[in-house]
Amino acid sequence: MDETADSKVAFIGLGHMGGPMSRRLAEAGLDLTVFDLDPARAAPALERGARLAASAAEAAGDADVLITMLPTPAAVEEVMLGSGEALASLPDGALWIDMSTSSPEVTERVLRRGAARGIRVVDAPVAGMSAGAEAGTLEIFAGGDAADVEQARPILERLGDPERIFHVGGHGAGLVVKLMLNLLWFDQLVAIAEVLTIGARAGVDLGVLHKALVEGPTSSRLLARDLLPLLTRGEYEEGFTLALATKDLRLAVDLARAAGVPAELSAVVEQLFTRARATFGDDAGEMTPVRLYEEVAGVSLRLRESDEAPPDDAVSGRDGLAA
Ligand code: NAD
Repeated sequence: MDETADSKVAFIGLGHMGGPMSRRLAEAGLDLTVFDLDPARAAPALERGARLAASAAEAAGDADVLITMLPTPAAVEEVMLGSGEALASLPDGALWIDMSTSSPEVTERVLRRGAARGIRVVDAPVAGMSAGAEAGTLEIFAGGDAADVEQARPILERLGDPERIFHVGGHGAGLVVKLMLNLLWFDQLVAIAEVLTIGARAGVDLGVLHKALVEGPTSSRLLARDLLPLLTRGEYEEGFTLALATKDLRLAVDLARAAGVPAELSAVVEQLFTRARATFGDDAGEMTPVRLYEEVAGVSLRLRESDEAPPDDAVSGRDGLAA
């Protein structure tokens, strides 16, 4: 018997990710109430039987489980502790699952403020882009008490691949894993952009260089597969914007600072992404920092059609992208 079938679930934040995720929960027949500052975003869930609340507090008011999928830690804090008053209106003993890529400090503050009323907290950020949210194939990194993660699991399994829902540690651990996953991807993207630009500018054919790197000891899924839409079609991946990418980079560098770990490389990468955002705009795609290198060196990093044969399962897979 699936005990979530009887739970009242509230979902706040219905954007690129939360829209399709809430739609999936409504489709599964859950007793679901949704809220977003922009009510038009609720349509997919409402069409499948969810109710629309007039405020975050109203959505949380009789929820056994509250899910948030908000853009920034500031938005999470605003909804839970600020004027959204969601924490204050949650029933005692309710479970809050924050699936936003947020900061462990915000999670901690909510946990402390809710402890006296037995509010339980799981941070469960995701990877897999909006395509993964649509298909229910997200990868999910859950942090919190084992019993709470187990209670969350049946709901998480409607949103993510059951084989890739990981309980990675105590409160905040899910956020740390997610931020480190994205950080390594961002660091690697800049290193690859630099190497390809130097090689191409120094006169080596880009297809030859790319092949040599893919077959060499430092190959990666990013280099071999996920970069191909850019190298073949000039797509810089607008599905995950530079506004969100720079937010994640800042959170990762803040985490390094809080942990007392010097992170010179990542601090430079953060500045490069910030430069790309200032140059190309908030909505430019997460791969746009590559364009900075192309423009400064006067090269276009594009493979010729004859170079384009992608390796095996290649181009369409989106699960390797940062978000
Ligand atoms: P988005 O900007 O598309 O959606 C955010 C939604 O939250 C919007 O509909 C907005 O109206 C709503 N919102 C903002 N403040 C609110 C408030 N105070 N009260 C109620 N609603 C509010 O963002 P997204 O792309 O869906 O990303 C959500 C989170 O998921 C972010 O933390 C992001 O880093 C993370 N993430 C995104 C992707 C991706 O590919 N887009 C992938 C993995 C993780």
